[in-house]
Amino acid sequence: MVIGLEVHVQLDTKSKLFCRCSTKFGSPPNTQTCPVCTGTPGALPVLNREAYALSMKVALALNCEIPKFTKWDRKQYYYPDLPKGYQISQFDLPMSQNGHLAISDSKDAFEPKKVGITRAHLEEDAGKSVHDEQAGVADSQIDLNRCGTPLLEIVSEPDMFSPLEAKAYLNELKLLLTYLGVSDCNMQEGSLRVDANVNLHIPDENAADGRPIATPIVEIKNMNSFRAVERALAYEADRQWEVWQETGQKIGDVPKQTRGWDDSAQVTRGQRSKEESSDYRYFPDPDLVPVVVTDAEIEEVRGQLGELPAALRTRLEETFGITPYDSDVLVNQGRALVDYYIELAETSGEGKLASNWVQQDVLRYLNEQEIEIDAFTVRPPALAELLAKVKGGQLDTSRGREVLAEMIATESSVADAMTKLGIAEVDDSELVDLCKQLIADNPKIVADIQSGNQKAAGALIGQAKKQNPNVNPSRVRELCIELASQA
Ligand code: ZN
Ligand code: MN
Repeated sequence: MVIGLEVHVQLDTKSKLFCRCSTKFGSPPNTQTCPVCTGTPGALPVLNREAYALSMKVALALNCEIPKFTKWDRKQYYYPDLPKGYQISQFDLPMSQNGHLAISDSKDAFEPKKVGITRAHLEEDAGKSVHDEQAGVADSQIDLNRCGTPLLEIVSEPDMFSPLEAKAYLNELKLLLTYLGVSDCNMQEGSLRVDANVNLHIPDENAADGRPIATPIVEIKNMNSFRAVERALAYEADRQWEVWQETGQKIGDVPKQTRGWDDSAQVTRGQRSKEESSDYRYFPDPDLVPVVVTDAEIEEVRGQLGELPAALRTRLEETFGITPYDSDVLVNQGRALVDYYIELAETSGEGKLASNWVQQDVLRYLNEQEIEIDAFTVRPPALAELLAKVKGGQLDTSRGREVLAEMIATESSVADAMTKLGIAEVDDSELVDLCKQLIADNPKIVADIQSGNQKAAGALIGQAKKQNPNVNPSRVRELCIELASQA
């Protein structure tokens, strides 16, 4: 399988790309329009500088070259939700090109690789056709609120060879866009849209040049989640294989085809023969001046990139000794959670333990309560204190969890939560007496320990905790092994 992806991402600007209308989502239809975005003859577009800066941010984070001179082109096509009859886009001189995005899988499902970025260009969005699907009603209406919303189209090289790689690319791209703060990436609201170009390269033993046979490229549209992208690609690979076996059609034998993903039927369906770019009759937009970018402007934007996900993962692994899997989970939760983790790991000095507690206990609580980390009342210094007690053996993990639950419920310190739960430190002489009794009562376990099986002492910890839930498990283990060897 050979896969290239085209991602359209809506940039998070307050106003549209070439006019002052609001880009707010969900307003009543046709309330955010003006002569520019509805294409009234004579209205003149003016570039939104912020949209250009956000695009440059993404392009630099994708390691793209930023040409000093770019221009705007009209892409002509007729559609009811495009009243101008053309889309302002960029054709031969995009605002960025020749970049790459590194992808990997924290479970090593594929070799880490760099996916080439052919280009990323700015363009305006079209409106929306709203089809009434009530029985007996067959009208379609047009909402132009989205007309002119800034879109960054990010085109990858055909560098992905499985649905899994495609999904990893999309996840990494979305994470990058989120860290850059340029888009909310909400697929349901259409802030992020994915089209896939896919075909098969079939090894050909008869080819003198050793080249594989390529099947016709199909563009898949209408995928509303990353999961849908993965499934559509897998489906399309099977379908193309079957068509190849039946017809032997190669690339160039038939016109390019666009197929739509039907999520309920889990199939792709043919929509149309794909237009070639010549069908759009691109020409430079005479209403807009070309854009000239200076080195100083590029460097200013570069200075605003901040720490990107890949660098952040590496830093967490190197500084706190956690695995790529752990760093991936943490970084995927967003910068605020990572900052919480860093403070916890630094304060406690226990990177791995901190990572476990954040992933298992903190995240579970945040998900259950549907809150963000900033609203979590147990701040890193308090949780670090708790981790020190778990690490030191004063609390075992399950008691530690009870204490954390109490700290959350009553917004109390570790010490107060332990007092409220009746957890008190047990006097060592009391503990020695308890262990002596256990040794006397359990000759079989004692014999096991004496024969070198120290794990057998675990059963004695359980018995000790039944008699007094406040005992320190690691101290009980230590004492029992010591007493058993003397028995
Ligand atoms: Zn407008
Ligand atoms: Mn486009």
